[in-house]
Amino acid sequence: THFGKKTVALEDKQGLVNGVFHQVADRYDLMNDLMSGGIHRLWKDAMVNELAPPRGGQRAYTVLDMAGGTGDIAERILNASIGYAEVTVSDINSDMLRVGAERAETWRYGNRANFVEANAEELPFPDKSFDAYTIAFGIRNVPRIDKALTEAHRVLKRGGRILVLEFSQVDVPGLDSIYRTFSDVLIPPMGRVVTGDAAPYRYLVESIQRFPAPEVFSSKLSDAGFRRVSHTAMSGNIAALFSGWKF
Ligand code: SAM
Repeated sequence: THFGKKTVALEDKQGLVNGVFHQVADRYDLMNDLMSGGIHRLWKDAMVNELAPPRGGQRAYTVLDMAGGTGDIAERILNASIGYAEVTVSDINSDMLRVGAERAETWRYGNRANFVEANAEELPFPDKSFDAYTIAFGIRNVPRIDKALTEAHRVLKRGGRILVLEFSQVDVPGLDSIYRTFSDVLIPPMGRVVTGDAAPYRYLVESIQRFPAPEVFSSKLSDAGFRRVSHTAMSGNIAALFSGWKF
């Protein structure tokens, strides 16, 4: 595998991404804390606050946490709903899911989570299966974003909601150059120290820099059929939270 600056074909991109996450699965959570200084936890809390899963009702509130990896979002949703939600954690990568499933054994409501290996572009779920679809720091890794969003729309019930948390383009003067230096100069070596290889982290930085601007991503959500699309910038636009509804 190579992770250079050159553009990779779509089919190759998924292979590259899979290699990265197979390689880092066991240290993924540690890396997140180190590289974000723990801030990813606050962004994830904000996402689940926005979702505000109900804490009771006639029937369970079903959530698909796509690209759910090691289960950070799922655990938060289960806690916020005091175990009333039912979360399907889905990811294309069996190693990430394995780490998640092991962690779920220690969660308060771990018995309300299930783990399904799947590609966001082709979901193995029937139409109108879920009340909510969440994806945190996952969509930029999916080669065909439009396909994934159309699938998200298909599996949501009417009245269902999508929330997408993703890195954005820092636009605060001063912070932008600090952030760029941090990304280009510090992240890859940090990756090498913790996982033994800098290449996956160079890929990570590039994938963040290539992700579309918030307005462009919002129009992709609209094109996939979502309505009342909006987004909120977080931490000087280091990350953004997108919301849309299926009516
Ligand atoms: N949601 C977790 C979090 O916020 O910590 C994990 C995010 S991790 C940066 C990105 C995840 O996307 C990886 O677990 C990777 O395996 C998954 N992924 C990449 N391509 C995918 C695809 N086509 N379908 C489903 N998951 C995918």
